[in-house]
Amino acid sequence: MYLSKLPINTLKEVPADAEVVSHQLMLRAGLIRRLASGLYTWLPLGRRVLHKVERIIREEMDRAGALEISMPVVQPAELWQESTRWDAYGPELLRIKDRHQRDFCLGPTHEEVVTDIARNELKSYRQLPVNYYQIGTKFRDEIRPRFGVMRAREFVMKDAYSFHLDEESLLEGYRVMREAYKRIFDRLGLEYRIVQADTGAIGGSRSEEFQVLAASGEDVIAYCDEDGFAGNVEIVDLPPPNTPRPAPSESMTLVETPGVGSIEALASFLGVPPEKCLKTLLVRGTESPAVALYLRGDHELNAVKAQRLPGVATPLTMLRPAEVEALGSVAGFIGPVGLDIPAYVDQYAVPLADFVCGANRADYHYRGVNWDRDVKLPEVADLRNAVAGDPSPGGGGKLSIARGIEVGQIFQLGDKYSRAMGATVLDAEGKPRIMQMGCYGIGVTRVVAAAIEQNHDERGIIWPDPIAPFDVIVIPINMDKSEQVRKATEETYAKLRDAGFEALVDDRPQRPGFKFADADLIGIPHRVVISDKGLDEGRCEYKSRRSPDVEMVPLDSISEVIAARRRG
Ligand code: ATP
Ligand code: MG
Repeated sequence: MYLSKLPINTLKEVPADAEVVSHQLMLRAGLIRRLASGLYTWLPLGRRVLHKVERIIREEMDRAGALEISMPVVQPAELWQESTRWDAYGPELLRIKDRHQRDFCLGPTHEEVVTDIARNELKSYRQLPVNYYQIGTKFRDEIRPRFGVMRAREFVMKDAYSFHLDEESLLEGYRVMREAYKRIFDRLGLEYRIVQADTGAIGGSRSEEFQVLAASGEDVIAYCDEDGFAGNVEIVDLPPPNTPRPAPSESMTLVETPGVGSIEALASFLGVPPEKCLKTLLVRGTESPAVALYLRGDHELNAVKAQRLPGVATPLTMLRPAEVEALGSVAGFIGPVGLDIPAYVDQYAVPLADFVCGANRADYHYRGVNWDRDVKLPEVADLRNAVAGDPSPGGGGKLSIARGIEVGQIFQLGDKYSRAMGATVLDAEGKPRIMQMGCYGIGVTRVVAAAIEQNHDERGIIWPDPIAPFDVIVIPINMDKSEQVRKATEETYAKLRDAGFEALVDDRPQRPGFKFADADLIGIPHRVVISDKGLDEGRCEYKSRRSPDVEMVPLDSISEVIAARRRG
């Protein structure tokens, strides 16, 4: 491909609304353009990358014996009512009506549709196991679309669904998919961890996520190198603390704290550490308008754990300031003293003595508060996120914490959908048996962003070879003036293509420096520069995007040079 025929519109400036580096670089390199919140067009360079990611995924799914299908994006409400998710899924499900006023939704995932296929197509145990997969568009009306294609509303997912006669076969199918996923992410050149995960809105019993390690990741993962445990922090249960509560030594006093509405501000205003403060969160209840959750000031609420508590509404919803006032308190100054509503206290806030908490009055806190003496100790629960140094659930050491980007998740669903939707086959005795299911997702578009998060420098993207939009960029110097350069460029282009490389020739009339900057920004792994000076010695200049070194190599052997430098 000649760049004169591929309009690229690279940007020098960092786009103001792009917070993470992958989003910035995808816009700057012209891979994507924003249409509206969470909606992106993939331009030619970006689409090429996406194709390569899809190809690797498809090859490995096929190798694992999965069968490709293609299901509609628009799905009838009836199927979602059968599975009971029409009500349970919440506002992320974009619901639409057709001209006959019938209800439909845009598929955020395809368990219902595929289970409908399976119950119609699969009749006998002899046909099992079957794994259907597709690569296609999903729509989720995300509350906070951000980071470009990383958390979009419309995105591409590879989703697979396996059907089995019994649990043993499901476990084997899950194992095969887990291996296929490892091959996929290895081939994509990503550094990742497999972690235990919450099953969320999809459901099922066991689940694991594939997390690409990156500081910008939205997920927090906890792991222990000594005992091999790795889990999304959402699911890490903590043992009770073994510290006794000291006896009270202060009396409870009201203190004025004007405008001090956060734990950090409070701690510095009063000169006490955050771990001596009590944090109060008010969430919506199922039996009551609100439930109070108390945590140590330096700890963070774990939403998955909180949602499991009796009386707490799912999805976890914080009260708005007006609702806090209706309970007789003030946002930023909430505390347990005099707040008569159902409550839970995190087990690590139980040993607090002489603590600081909100006084349910604007600009006031209490100091020297003690459980039992000043306020009744509520029901104790495990409410907080694990932090570095907490004991590992694996039992072998302490946890470390890292951030990750969830690029894939696999689930043992069991019979959640097959039972609700009556998906059965006849077993060897001729009796109907409810099928066991697994499901397996990969965020195809998110993988592209994750790859950039792990592979870039200050000049731009550094594509791993297997997913680069082109393998090689050929930059001729003075092609319009030198017949020799023009001829050598065309010959090199043909030779590279014959050797199986996808080459891009920068035949634009711009200065060399401009072209080098673009080549670095769009991240083509191998660069070849053709100039009169080199040609006089039968050579060209070779540079890998990953290395600062420039080498002069014989023009004849350029394909071999690149083949030797390729990774993956
Ligand atoms: P998340 O926790 O990030 O919202 P999820 O657990 O809801 O994701 P799954 O239902 O497991 O997502 O979907 C499978 C894969 O699809 C995820 O592992 C992720 O890589 C990708 N994905 C999910 N939501 C989005 C999104 N809004 N934009 C881009 N990719 C997404
Ligand atoms: Mg997931």
